[in-house]
Amino acid sequence: MTCLFCRIVAGEIDSDIVYRDEISTAFRDINPQAPVHILVVPNDHIPSVASIAPEQEQLVGHLLHVAGTLAKREGIATRGFRLVVNTGPDAGQSVDHLHVHLLGGRHLSWPPG
Ligand code: AMP
Repeated sequence: MTCLFCRIVAGEIDSDIVYRDEISTAFRDINPQAPVHILVVPNDHIPSVASIAPEQEQLVGHLLHVAGTLAKREGIATRGFRLVVNTGPDAGQSVDHLHVHLLGGRHLSWPPG
């Protein structure tokens, strides 16, 4: 298995896992860009948003629900937070396994760079 996030989901690489269920896993980003920076990923390998199949729509909705639940748990839901899904080289996607960044705990400027 070569995909980094598949290996984290499988427990082959250590990570700070904060949530796990049969569909998704969430762990803290190794290089946090905000006081709260968590990645929510599907347990099954999906390379990016551009490769989501019609039958995976519900799964993707689940990722957003998990992100919102974790935002509440982390205490950032009231002040606000940002979900980011970088897709492809122009957006800087560096791991080819779909992941939702949950960022919060500080003011986040807009537009992004
Ligand atoms: P992206 O650039 O949108 O593809 O996001 C990939 C994210 O994965 C980056 O924010 C990295 O800091 C993060 N990352 C890379 N390796 C690890 C790891 N071993 N554990 C946790 N996060 C990681």
